[in-house]
Amino acid sequence: MLMSNPWPAAAFRTAAGGAFITLFGVATGVPWLVLAAGSGLLVYNLSQAYRLERWLRASRRRRPPRGNGVWGHIFDGLDRQQLQQRTRRTRLVRLLRRFREGANAMPDGTIVLSAGGDMQWWNRLASRYLGLRWPQDRGQRIANLIRHPEFAAYLAERDWTAAVKIPSPQDPRRTLEIRIVPYGDHQQMLLARDITELHRLETMRRDFVGNVSHELRTPLTVLQGMSEQLGEMESLDAEELARPLALMDQQIGRMTRLVDDLLLLSRLETERPAGERGTIDMPALLTEAVDEARALSNERHSIALTMDESLGIDGDRDEIRSAISNLLSNAVKYTEAGGRIDVRWFAAEGAACLAVADTGRGVPPHHIPRLTERFYRVDHGRASRDGGTGLGLAIVKHVLSRHGGRLEVTSQVGVGSTFTALFPDYQRVGDASASTVS
Ligand code: ADP
Repeated sequence: MLMSNPWPAAAFRTAAGGAFITLFGVATGVPWLVLAAGSGLLVYNLSQAYRLERWLRASRRRRPPRGNGVWGHIFDGLDRQQLQQRTRRTRLVRLLRRFREGANAMPDGTIVLSAGGDMQWWNRLASRYLGLRWPQDRGQRIANLIRHPEFAAYLAERDWTAAVKIPSPQDPRRTLEIRIVPYGDHQQMLLARDITELHRLETMRRDFVGNVSHELRTPLTVLQGMSEQLGEMESLDAEELARPLALMDQQIGRMTRLVDDLLLLSRLETERPAGERGTIDMPALLTEAVDEARALSNERHSIALTMDESLGIDGDRDEIRSAISNLLSNAVKYTEAGGRIDVRWFAAEGAACLAVADTGRGVPPHHIPRLTERFYRVDHGRASRDGGTGLGLAIVKHVLSRHGGRLEVTSQVGVGSTFTALFPDYQRVGDASASTVS
């Protein structure tokens, strides 16, 4: 590669060559030699200029022509420049690719907008959330593609410190939070985040507070009425006091049960399974729970217990106990007097199963998937009159999931229901033939 200044040598060569040919021409008396040499030089320079012009017109991908002297320097200089440009371009392309990869990996939909609001570029998530098509939608105005009135109002207001929540144009069940961020020279970036889960949690929290307040209001209203009534009574003899006091006691009991269930549920939802986990003596636990259910039933139902005593599970005894007593008290509550309740502890299909079957009122099929939701009741008025908190099955579901288990419900209206808790992680702790019926 020629790097030094070629002009002194070229000037010297031309001057020396010209002087020599002129002297030679004068000495020999042939002056046209000078003319011929000058023309030769002109033709040479023209041919080099022609090569350069052809190369400039042709694809820049080709290397420039090779040459000697000053032309060689010019061609080499162009070659060098071309190489530098190519390296710079490759670096830029690589940078751009990395930027796009980064933008595509972002957890938000991102659209780059021009000063006029035209969409210049967007990542994959933006296509997914907003249904944009690349490259057909390129250059379109964002306002033409997202036509939700709240978004239009957001654009008109131009308050970029705020964000707007709209349903996704692709799937109205999903909620998007859209925010516009100005940057650079009047450029804007639109960020779209899927906040469906957050939105659902927010709604759940609001509903939950509403439900708890509602559940507490009824007993509080009763208590308030009673206390007013007591205040107005002229004489407070024991006989007259008995009924209001019993009612007050009942309502206090209801509030206590609600608060206890709420505390238990919140512990189950937020705390990790506690340390006190060991093999649970299921026969003892079941016998105890069935005795309690019999006391609750007060001989209105016939309650039978059958168990395979060799089956054991590891877990938190208190949590399992609370799940079992919720299933049993429901069976008692929702089965008319004279009905039958069968409690069975057995192994089937790779799991230890606790089935509580009753001959009660049953649950219509469309309610079954929602029974474990907090405060969900089939017959709201009747269930709360029966003294339920509406949290029992939510507690059962949480306890089971903390023990790797699940709840299955089969039911027929007017015939009865079977609630089965399945524990896939179980062991045989004794003789498989040992079973008890009581
Ligand atoms: P509750 O405190 O109201 O009993 P749960 O969460 O324990 O709350 O139960 C939710 C709803 O499921 C009840 O209100 C009732 O409608 C229905 N349910 C639960 N167990 C039974 C059952 N064994 N038979 C019929 N319906 C039931």
